[in-house]
Amino acid sequence: MGMWIKRMQTAAFVPGAPQGSTSTHKLTFRKRIRLFTDDRRVEGTTMAVVLIYFVFIMLDFIVPEMYFSAGLEGQVTKSYKQFTIRWMRTFWFIDLTFLSFFLIEIGVRVYAWGWQYMKDILNLIDFVIVAVSFAMLWVTLEYTLEGGEDTALGSVLALLRVFRIVRIFRLIIILNKFRRTREAAAIIRLKTKYRRQGSPVEKVLDILQGLKRKSDLNAERDNLSFMMDVIVSGDLYTVSVSAASQGNEAYSTFLLDGGAKGGTRQTGLVGGTGALLANVVAGTGAQLKRSPTAGKRNSVREPKPSDPSPEKSLVATSRTMSKPAEGNQPGRFNFSPEFTWLEEMLFSSDVQTVLEKTSSWEFDVFELDRATSKHPMVILMLHFVKAFNLDRELPINCNNLVRYLLKIEEGYKNVPFHNYVHAADVTHGTAYFMVQAAVTSHISPFDFFCMALGAAIHDFEHPGYNNAFLVASKDPIAILYNDSSVLENFHISSSWRLMLRDEFNPFEGFSNEQYNEARATMVYAILGTDMKFHFDHLTKFKTRVSAGAFVEPDRKDVRLLLAMCMHSADVSNPAKGWDLSSEWAVRVMEEFFQQGENEAQLGLPVSPFMDRARTDIGKCQAGFISILIKPFFEEWIGFLGDSNKHILTNILSNIKTWSDQGEGALGDRAGELHTAPPPVSRKS
Ligand SMILES: [Zn+2]
Repeated sequence: MGMWIKRMQTAAFVPGAPQGSTSTHKLTFRKRIRLFTDDRRVEGTTMAVVLIYFVFIMLDFIVPEMYFSAGLEGQVTKSYKQFTIRWMRTFWFIDLTFLSFFLIEIGVRVYAWGWQYMKDILNLIDFVIVAVSFAMLWVTLEYTLEGGEDTALGSVLALLRVFRIVRIFRLIIILNKFRRTREAAAIIRLKTKYRRQGSPVEKVLDILQGLKRKSDLNAERDNLSFMMDVIVSGDLYTVSVSAASQGNEAYSTFLLDGGAKGGTRQTGLVGGTGALLANVVAGTGAQLKRSPTAGKRNSVREPKPSDPSPEKSLVATSRTMSKPAEGNQPGRFNFSPEFTWLEEMLFSSDVQTVLEKTSSWEFDVFELDRATSKHPMVILMLHFVKAFNLDRELPINCNNLVRYLLKIEEGYKNVPFHNYVHAADVTHGTAYFMVQAAVTSHISPFDFFCMALGAAIHDFEHPGYNNAFLVASKDPIAILYNDSSVLENFHISSSWRLMLRDEFNPFEGFSNEQYNEARATMVYAILGTDMKFHFDHLTKFKTRVSAGAFVEPDRKDVRLLLAMCMHSADVSNPAKGWDLSSEWAVRVMEEFFQQGENEAQLGLPVSPFMDRARTDIGKCQAGFISILIKPFFEEWIGFLGDSNKHILTNILSNIKTWSDQGEGALGDRAGELHTAPPPVSRKS
């Protein structure tokens, strides 16, 4: 597929498409020849030559025969013999000229397309006919010049004449091409009718249709048909879940939301694929604006006097992240008295000691939980606001922000895994990825703030059951969101509803554009944390990386990058060192088992990995990490660069520990997990 995209980027293949930045100037000689053979005029000329040759072949059959039949009436006259010899010699040279032309033509095509040109059966037959005719011509050279005394050679010549008939086949091949061209032209005429209202995908299909029409190779036409089928299906980023899970039923079920919907699944992330497609193929179609604020101003909400001017907000959303000021004592918050305790906590030496380690991947969120008396998320957010000067770069209402975050922290339920500590952990992980060089250069302080906040709210009010359970138990939330990304919709919607209350709105001072962009980015990323989209994320990201999209990403790619940061952080437990990783494993297994017990109570089938008595925790974890986590992080770390290789090392080492030691690696805790529910939040 990559090869195809590259080929299309040679722009000359795509009439009317924007020229690829470098490719057109660096066309290899071979590519030039390809373009030459594809040219309509060259095709037309070839066709004309074949037609003229056809006429000559017909004459060669008809004329001597007519003369001969006339001669039979009387006797074979001298003039008849002279005529046939002259005719034969003349035709020999005409034949030689045509066949040489055809041989050169085939040679050029083979050079242009490589030996795969001959893999097309029609092309091969065409070549054999021309080559054998050419060889026969030289065999009969002597006979022709001598005047036809040798009978053996005479029969070869007769054979050659018969063989010429076969050469009409060439005409069929060329006419076949003609037919394809006509069909394609008809389609294009039809498409032109829709062009004005048409979507980018129609343009893409036009381009592919054009390529298909021009193609001489069966295999190439098949590939193009495949591409068109994929595009028309709309399932561009859908990965076969059973294939991705390496045929493991349990993981397929896990990814398909417990199979509650009979294996059907939604495709893609939020946002249509149409516009994106346009970018995949050679940057055709609408170009997205670099900055969201460059668009029209929102007219729904009247801008408040405090709104920054559009120019100002443009700066705020497009400037890239700056490094935290090292050694500088950050300024204090301008908190109202009710929150001074938080500020004191933030700047206490105990908490600062823990926070100094936030730049490390192995940052211990449980330690922060203890140091902050169960306020790790609020403290972490405040720390980031100060460390990255977010309150100076952006018009954040910090009183509203802490009021909101405290409310959010409170809203997280007392469940084993999806509690406020997980929220703080994902906030740290998302921030960690956002400050890596490969990401930082493309994002603004605005993006950082939105995504850190998004991570903080991403599992708000999580009930401790997965989507499959909510759907199967006909939970009101599942009914509300029509069984589709139930929890993810619920988290974002319920936490956003809180934000609409004036005293909780951290975006109070933001412009309408910033508010809208913040909402769009956060909704996109949080909906993207649905595990159902895990492989879609991966495929989409791979595609964009291979298309070089992150050299100068547009807003859509930046959002994808940000969503990758959050999703990676959300599933990053097995990518931590063993101590952190195993603590999270215990918590997630406990949550699974509690769901399993609830399923049993409700008379529902117990989901895979959720049977407390029977689940092999070691196998479950090893499989989960190998099938879901490892391939994902291989791609992600590949993008982030070698400085993050230690993350992959953790993953491999954790797989090894789980595979070698099984659940024994957890010591006594494995036994506890299998028997009575342990108290929630052991470490906190
Ligand atoms: Zn989560």
